[in-house]
Amino acid sequence: MAATVGVRGGKLVDASGVDLSAYKRWRSADHERGAGRVHLLDPENAEKTVCGFPLAVIGGQQVASVAGVTCRRCPALVVSRLERDERQREWNAGVEAAQRKAEAEAAERRARYHEYLKTPEWRAKRRLVIERARGLCEGCGINAATQVHHLTYEHVGAEFLWELRAVCDGCHERAHAPGRGL
Ligand SMILES: [Zn+2]
Ligand SMILES: [Zn+2]
Ligand SMILES: [Zn+2]
Repeated sequence: MAATVGVRGGKLVDASGVDLSAYKRWRSADHERGAGRVHLLDPENAEKTVCGFPLAVIGGQQVASVAGVTCRRCPALVVSRLERDERQREWNAGVEAAQRKAEAEAAERRARYHEYLKTPEWRAKRRLVIERARGLCEGCGINAATQVHHLTYEHVGAEFLWELRAVCDGCHERAHAPGRGL
């Protein structure tokens, strides 16, 4: 896009009206590099012009007026930076929206799962698993089984019985705690 810079309402703006007032103006000395043009100063590094001339090298002085930026590279670079920041903001917004969507979907899946655990189908399956274990915890073999644990959630709602284990409270808690590995 064309990086035309103008003054509107006393403010330095680019072609799309972006406020560039934060950028100070600097006129380099006539016969130095920078060719006596009026440049913009980098707000994050006021030791050089946006187009890259160190002030110590080009000499000159700050210009008070908002008008008259005569370097073509300075405003072009400012605008391309603003565009890059804008693309970054859009990208971040997209990432955040995707995260929110994923969280909402996970919450919905959890809610459906908790509903499923109240159904007669689940209760029947749970009873079969505890009967298979003869009422004993399949984790420790000592305590009475009080709960049924999913080895995988791949077939929730239509589990194979081998995907389910009868467990006591303590073993179930340990099954869901992060392991230490080797
Ligand atoms: Zn410049
Ligand atoms: Zn146990
Ligand atoms: Zn479990």
